[in-house]
Amino acid sequence: MICERCGRQTNRYRYSWYNEQAICLPCSDRESKRHDYAHCRKAELEAVKRGDLNFNFKTPQEMES
Ligand SMILES: [Zn+2]
Repeated sequence: MICERCGRQTNRYRYSWYNEQAICLPCSDRESKRHDYAHCRKAELEAVKRGDLNFNFKTPQEMES
């Protein structure tokens, strides 16, 4: 598949915590080091609790910055 964030070819991927993108492992790793990662995980958890399964903490456009 092609990473939806950086566009590189990759055989292994994960889903982003920030939105619905399927991303490669380096991108996933970078995401986990962002300063707002803990905040994102918490917000995601709260969204799931209220039944919002399509929660986007940041849009793909916002993730590029
Ligand atoms: Zn990537």
